[in-house]
Amino acid sequence: MSKITGAMLKHIKIVSTQAAPTVTETRVTGPLGVKLVKMTTRVVDGNKIACDLEGPAAAQVQPMVDRFLSVINRIKVIGTVDGRLVYNLYNPPMPSPAALRPFERKLRSQALGYVLPATATLSVTPHCPCKCVHCSADRFVTQEGQMLSTEELASVVDQTLDLGVCTLIFTGGEPMARKDLYDQIARVDKNLAHVMMFTCGAFLNAENVARLKEAGLGSMNVSIDSDRPEEHDEFRRRPGTFKQAVEGARMAREAGIMVGVSTYATHENITSGRLEHLLQIARDEGFHEVTIFDCVPTGKFLHRGDLVLGRKDIEAVRALADKYNRDSAPFGVTAQAQANAPDGGGCFGSFSQFYMTCYGDIDPCDFNPVSFGNVRNAPLAEIWKKMVSHPEFCGHRMSCRMQSQRYRRMYIDPLTDDEVLPVLIDRLPGDGTILPKEEVAAK
Ligand code: SF4
Ligand code: SF4
Repeated sequence: MSKITGAMLKHIKIVSTQAAPTVTETRVTGPLGVKLVKMTTRVVDGNKIACDLEGPAAAQVQPMVDRFLSVINRIKVIGTVDGRLVYNLYNPPMPSPAALRPFERKLRSQALGYVLPATATLSVTPHCPCKCVHCSADRFVTQEGQMLSTEELASVVDQTLDLGVCTLIFTGGEPMARKDLYDQIARVDKNLAHVMMFTCGAFLNAENVARLKEAGLGSMNVSIDSDRPEEHDEFRRRPGTFKQAVEGARMAREAGIMVGVSTYATHENITSGRLEHLLQIARDEGFHEVTIFDCVPTGKFLHRGDLVLGRKDIEAVRALADKYNRDSAPFGVTAQAQANAPDGGGCFGSFSQFYMTCYGDIDPCDFNPVSFGNVRNAPLAEIWKKMVSHPEFCGHRMSCRMQSQRYRRMYIDPLTDDEVLPVLIDRLPGDGTILPKEEVAAK
């Protein structure tokens, strides 16, 4: 037996272990525990990755590994964790068992006949001390909604890991408003997934940062909307938030957590140079990364299609990211304008990621307010399968659905301001109309 065959895929087992701080061993076995491949992944020359393969299926796996190495060894390293390489705040340090899980995801997806997720963004609470004018989560919050209990959230985390996710992102509301956040982070097996958090920074203090580090938080993104503190506080409708965000991020950086700033691009902040000024502030602070989201019409701005960035603005953001990613400073820029473009990874929603609202509804991404089910009513694996089997969502789209006029016409324009979001996909036939709740419930 020297090849991994299609029939064998369902019985394949892949186990990775951290053999040394900068060496991960991955063993692939077939039916009856037959050894197929042993892959040793290690850091070489301080900032590159090498893989050695042995075993009867090594020749078959080699081309896939070569492709992987040719991509990863071109990416800038923005930091290290115990000698392992960090390329951005969203992926586990390389090499590590969690970072090698996409290999397992690929084989398991082939065996199942549909793709499995690599990233999950879980909103864990509706509560937040800010009242941002642009909040994307606000329309998911209702008076009567009940956030998931500790047990319910723990179950979602377990189910998420079982699906093969290697990056687990906690968000809100403000995730630190949730008292059991530290326990939820701690219970994630870090050999399975890297844990990240988006925060407004309001609850970051020395004690809480130490607890986050102790729980095993790998990275955090602190949201900053403007290079001007007073403007940021105005957008957040909370005085002092800029100062708390920056000071909290400094504490996290000192504690050894990888730290980034998340912000968004607008025509105004691109053309005025203020977006670049924010990048400079973050780099001068010694933060590791800035994530630049496109200004996606969602949440409170769901029907502001006019906010979608034009081609020139998108090109300017891409050029900005290139400029900072090409120099040698240990600082990176992850720009949605690149990541979700056809020459990047395309749209991640329903392809490699999902989002859960604070009440347990499963959507393709944070910005796309359509739901495929609720974790209180169905197993996560079943909801995911429903999502990736839907005609609109089964294919890998190579650009942002939420910025596509066609998608918005079919699925977003029918969502009136009085609809509670997210709306169950069964109510959206994809022809620009929305079915009454009662009609769908009666089916
Ligand atoms: S901090 Fe985040 S969750 Fe809170 S109001 Fe602002 S955008 Fe919404
Ligand atoms: S629709 Fe796709 S590209 Fe757009 S924000 Fe969501 S995941 Fe990202």
